[in-house]
Amino acid sequence: MPRPSLSEQHPAPPQLPEVARRLRERYLPTPPTLRRGGEPLDGLIETILSQQNLGVITRRQFAGLKAAYRTWEAALQDGPDGIEAALRAVGGGLIRLKADRIWNVLSTLQQERGLLSLRDTRDMDDAQVRTLLEDLPGVGPKTASCVLLFDLARPAMPVDTHIERVTRRLELAPARWNAVKIERWYDEVLPRSYGERYTFHVGAIRHGQQICRSQRPLCAECLLQDLCPAAGIFLGHTLPTGEQAEPPPKKPPPARKGG
Ligand code: SF4
Repeated sequence: MPRPSLSEQHPAPPQLPEVARRLRERYLPTPPTLRRGGEPLDGLIETILSQQNLGVITRRQFAGLKAAYRTWEAALQDGPDGIEAALRAVGGGLIRLKADRIWNVLSTLQQERGLLSLRDTRDMDDAQVRTLLEDLPGVGPKTASCVLLFDLARPAMPVDTHIERVTRRLELAPARWNAVKIERWYDEVLPRSYGERYTFHVGAIRHGQQICRSQRPLCAECLLQDLCPAAGIFLGHTLPTGEQAEPPPKKPPPARKGG
């Protein structure tokens, strides 16, 4: 007997469409426009740089690579040490690891496909693109989903640490599931629409960054408070199982630059 799908194990909760609607209205009321014409390999490399990185540093590192190399062939030829030097010139963390990952991706593409481009993925279906990307060294489901969503305008739903936390606190998915499983579950239960998934993804990340923060979530001003089982726990200053929240401060903390 086949194993039940994740959505059969845990059907979409009735409040999910309302959560998505409120996040959209608050954080992204204007639907995204499709980005066309770019090189998806650029998107893949930028996504590799974004792993455990701030957005501002990711953009600076990507711009540094583009300034150092007119083509990805030049980066491949320069080798991991050269890519590391180009990244080091603009700063940031995990530079050696990222240089190795980028060079390994370029090298594999060159060996297996004979070209340093992913433009032809525009003519492939979602499953074909995912297989191609996840076969590359160091590319996992989340990175593949980011390229699908942001560079190919496909209905993917990458789950980062903010979305994982918001999902858990709202008890949309079982607490024991990890981010990979939550992503696969969202892929089954969310409408297969690029616009809806893009909006939900970006809205949930912004909510996690601005309101449903890891430490001291701002439940009192949360637009999802009435739908959230964790709200009472945080507002009552009691630590829920597995959380490391501190009691809220007497005064709201000052806004941090770039936070
Ligand atoms: S009520 Fe609190 S815990 Fe629940 S989603 Fe909002 S900020 Fe997060």
